[in-house]
Amino acid sequence: MMLESMRAGEEAKIKGGEDAVAWVKKELCIGCDQCTIVCDDNAIELYDTPLASPIMQVEVNRKARILRDDCTGCKLCVLGCPTDAIIMIDR
Ligand code: SF4
Ligand code: SF4
Repeated sequence: MMLESMRAGEEAKIKGGEDAVAWVKKELCIGCDQCTIVCDDNAIELYDTPLASPIMQVEVNRKARILRDDCTGCKLCVLGCPTDAIIMIDR
């Protein structure tokens, strides 16, 4: 309950709507796919990118990118991203 009201307060502070569009801060994105699941408008896609760290035993990582034309500014992805990698910017 408290978490919900905190979330609502948080959401109110984030700009949204038709004048806003989501933007992924690449360096924070871990390719977890949560944003594509919450986006109702198919406005996010993941792409492969070479993994920067040689410590991890995987060769590619994934990153999200916003398809600007399809983004409605609903902010759902901002709230769903576990690493705060998505922000809303002016269109
Ligand atoms: S939810 Fe966040 S961390 Fe996960 S893929 Fe989307 S932008 Fe990247
Ligand atoms: S703001 Fe809404 S429409 Fe735009 S990418 Fe995020 S979830 Fe999709």
